[in-house]
Amino acid sequence: MYDFGIRHALTGYRVAYRPEQENYCPGCGRSHWVIGRLTAECAFCATALPLMVGGSTGSGLIRQRGVTALAA
Ligand SMILES: [Zn+2]
Repeated sequence: MYDFGIRHALTGYRVAYRPEQENYCPGCGRSHWVIGRLTAECAFCATALPLMVGGSTGSGLIRQRGVTALAA
């Protein structure tokens, strides 16, 4: 997962898939994507970009509250 926190201001713009915007492929310029859990892949040239908000959808989002992993 990308960490765009504090370093983002220091390193400038990074190519990533942003779900709230129209995204154009840096490889071919088209905008048809296959969205996964961590990356988005261009449907035409297979260029993969990391998701800007990866991990916020899918079955990994569902967690039980108040359950400890393993009792010591
Ligand atoms: Zn492409």
